[in-house]
Amino acid sequence: MIIDAHLHLDVHVDGTAAGAAAELDKQLAEAGISRAIVLHLQTQPWTSKEVADAIAEYPRLHGFINVHPYHSACESELKEGIETLNYIGLKLHPRLQEFAIDDNRTIQLVRKAGEMNIPVLIDAFPDGTHLMQGFSPVKYAMLARECPGTNFIWAHMGGHYVLDFMMLAKRLPNVWMDLSYSLLYYQNSAVTDNLVYAMRSMKFEHIFYGSDYPDRPIAESLNSSVKILQEKGVGDDELNKIMSKNAVNFFKWNDL
Ligand SMILES: [Zn+2]
Repeated sequence: MIIDAHLHLDVHVDGTAAGAAAELDKQLAEAGISRAIVLHLQTQPWTSKEVADAIAEYPRLHGFINVHPYHSACESELKEGIETLNYIGLKLHPRLQEFAIDDNRTIQLVRKAGEMNIPVLIDAFPDGTHLMQGFSPVKYAMLARECPGTNFIWAHMGGHYVLDFMMLAKRLPNVWMDLSYSLLYYQNSAVTDNLVYAMRSMKFEHIFYGSDYPDRPIAESLNSSVKILQEKGVGDDELNKIMSKNAVNFFKWNDL
């Protein structure tokens, strides 16, 4: 069984959320992926309702809603997203949404998510833009420490800051990470070794597989990721933790 814990709808299928969800579900089925987390993005041309309606057609797909922490109605948008639109988590993207992780409004929203018993997936990929915005692993850790009642997924394992993120995650029981994008982006560099080192150091706990589709086709990401992990000596039991067991436990998908 395989779970993809980080992906998006592709705006280039036919322009509709319904068309994008159909294409996504088809690719997941072909790749043998049982369940996937679809991350709604305010930067995409669809409302949270359009995305929710599109993914509701497919039991394989579950969504995280993206709201802006500085928007005065963000808490009610989140509440409606969870209670009415069936989203199961909150997605935050500090680089694209241009908000500060250490802003009080961010902390309030993230605490609210914890009170609602839903996880927060927060982008943690240090590209040039994010670095110039003042990207800092410690800010992620401080947010997690300020909000101990909220479970976090640090997306992309912090990219080339993976060792810092690993060290911080070891001190924070409410933090998980996904290896999406980074494992394939940094191929043939020392960062790949560091990513595997970090997973191993964390005993392959608190880590999820993700593809960040439509970065690449679903099957291509899966096959390339498994190949790299196996080449780096990751065994079957360890692979199973990353590919399904950790996510099944985290999302309490005991029906799988
Ligand atoms: Zn993503």
